[in-house]
Amino acid sequence: MADDRTKAQRSETMRKVRGKDTSCEMSLRRELHRRGLRYRLHTDLPGKPDIVFVAARVAIFVDGCFWHGCPEHCRLPATNREYWEAKIARNRTRDARATRALHDDGWIAIRLWEHEIRDSVAKVADRIAHTLRDR
Ligand SMILES: [Zn+2]
Repeated sequence: MADDRTKAQRSETMRKVRGKDTSCEMSLRRELHRRGLRYRLHTDLPGKPDIVFVAARVAIFVDGCFWHGCPEHCRLPATNREYWEAKIARNRTRDARATRALHDDGWIAIRLWEHEIRDSVAKVADRIAHTLRDR
């Protein structure tokens, strides 16, 4: 019984944060598209970047504040704390490994916090546009 409840709570947490990730990513995609920047979505690159500019070799990751352990916004649920800490630590290790693998392969990896997009999608898009221009 206790275990079922734990699982239910976890699913609930996952559901809540997943929706937020997606809406930020969508608003960034819309902004890039509006500026005429054409990207690809699904590639086999390390870490599965969310948005990819193949010719410029620039890969964008939209890191959810919860899942990737944003220092400002990652609030762990009170229950199952150890489970979440371990999970987020694994995610961060994986993120760092993917970023390194991309760099080693001549890519630029831009990791964005979900909150940066929420704060100002224009600012984030400017940063991406600058990077693309320099390539
Ligand atoms: Zn954040």
